[in-house]
Amino acid sequence: MKAHFELKSILQSIDTKGYKSYKELEGEYKFSEYTLYIDHVQGDPFALPSGVRVRVGQDIAGFPADTYLSRSREIALRDFITRKFHEAINKFSKGSRGSGKSGLISIDNPGQEILERTSAFVNESYVEVRFTVGLPAFGRKVAGFIAEAIFFDELPHIIRDSLLFKNLDVEALYKHIKTSEDADFLRKELENLRLIAFVAEGSILPRQSGVSALPLQKDKAIPFLSPDNLKMDVELPNKGQITGMGIPRGITLIVGGGYHGKSTLLNAIELGIYNHIPGDGREYVVSNPNSVKIRAENGRSVHNVDISPFIKNLPFNKDSVSFSTEDASGSTSQAANILEVVEVGADVLLIDEDTSATNFMIRDHRMQKLVSKENEPITPYIDKAKPLFREYMISSILVIGGSGDYFDIADFVIRMTDYRAEDVTLEAKEIVQHYSTGRTVESDGYFGTVRERIPLSQSLDASKGKRNIKISNRGIHTIIFGIHDINLIALEQLVATSQTNAIGDAIQYAKKYMNGKKSLRQITSLVMLDIGRAGLDVLDPRLSGDYAEFRKIELAAAINRLRTLKVEQKI
Ligand code: ADP
Ligand code: MG
Repeated sequence: MKAHFELKSILQSIDTKGYKSYKELEGEYKFSEYTLYIDHVQGDPFALPSGVRVRVGQDIAGFPADTYLSRSREIALRDFITRKFHEAINKFSKGSRGSGKSGLISIDNPGQEILERTSAFVNESYVEVRFTVGLPAFGRKVAGFIAEAIFFDELPHIIRDSLLFKNLDVEALYKHIKTSEDADFLRKELENLRLIAFVAEGSILPRQSGVSALPLQKDKAIPFLSPDNLKMDVELPNKGQITGMGIPRGITLIVGGGYHGKSTLLNAIELGIYNHIPGDGREYVVSNPNSVKIRAENGRSVHNVDISPFIKNLPFNKDSVSFSTEDASGSTSQAANILEVVEVGADVLLIDEDTSATNFMIRDHRMQKLVSKENEPITPYIDKAKPLFREYMISSILVIGGSGDYFDIADFVIRMTDYRAEDVTLEAKEIVQHYSTGRTVESDGYFGTVRERIPLSQSLDASKGKRNIKISNRGIHTIIFGIHDINLIALEQLVATSQTNAIGDAIQYAKKYMNGKKSLRQITSLVMLDIGRAGLDVLDPRLSGDYAEFRKIELAAAINRLRTLKVEQKI
């Protein structure tokens, strides 16, 4: 380890030299309050910025053990520290100076969700943050004095402001970790209560806009109120007793007029797989961790999926037991999306009519008369939801404003009126008694087989030009895997680019388990086990600060959407 003044003298000696001379910086530097690690130096000012870490010993950082000793608190504290470091960068960094990314200090930028992130770590010995620095240059010449300002003026301020317990807003810190701990507790409680989701009274579900995840302003939002029949109390370790709507297992419909808040409720449940920051409005909205939003996704590629539970007798004898296409239709994509997530272990399907294929959801009496079953390959979801629950214990929450035929199969019906939820199950059941749908059930009462599939390693190739592995991402919804884009736009439960970044690398990592025998379900489970044991760092030995936790469901979904993928069905 070098002394901090050695960093200064290197910077002075390479000032105005060619950019490559920055390579000399790689190494560890001892500062009085922390250690600086320059792990990876970028090749030029336009490349990915340099990877840097800072460690502050707990003798100086001073985080009390109760802020990180349980897994739940540790994750929330790491998330909190990342946010504070990010804020401190905005306060103290002078930002971009010079060519390319010169002068930029950046760290993962968390949104409304509290996630496990590799941007920060805490244990009994130290606090570590991982971030990047755009080593500054004019043209391609080292701007040594700017680098000096970054490492000897800006960074020390950022570190002192965000990594020392005594300088943090302690109340906000405890609120963050206690809120997250309560949400974890509540999500675990769902299992005991035989629920699939819980929405606390007083929650603010709507967001500011279609492009903002921030809560709708308090004066505009109507807080959630639970219908009496579904109301229950839960005792949380920190907040104490809360009241809210528990959605039991089975089939639940969310009905109501257009613009009355149906999708907003479903969206909140969708993201209930994550914990939310204090002030978000959805702190106590949680769902089963294996809840999956399903939508139609026409145009996607599908590889060897047995979609026969929903689709049989395609025109021109196209196979639906091992269905492949480069361009799925609305209904076939929705069928494939369901079978793929059932294959890897979904517990709850969340479906919104807004983003579903109508013909996949329902075929009514009149249509059954006009188009005979022989000429309709699709068995609609209405005839499969119950068998799916009976045989696979997979529940459904469905937003359906357009078809009362669904009352037949519903266990619970929630009606949204002016953003208020009512339990109208009994009313719906009375309607079932009085008005027959006239439709014929189009299934034999069984869901059908769900086949596991075996991905073939050679079909996942991340090479690009001279590079054996080149994986990156463009925003949340695109992974660039070698020369192939993987489109994740249908994965509505992804919330952070650092998740997408991790999933991209996890696909490559998963190849080590692809031996031509293991199924996608087994492979993705093994990857998650490794991550559970050794952390997200297993994905990259270079200690990325830009990973966030993800589920095996999204990992499998990304693999399934790689257009070059080849899979065999397991027999
Ligand atoms: P639906 O799916 O029933 O057609 P949405 O859930 O899309 O309706 O909601 C319609 C609009 O109402 C959206 O702009 C949404 O942000 C807003 N909204 C939803 N719930 C609330 C609420 N509780 N308070 C205020 N506005 C809400
Ligand atoms: Mg809607």
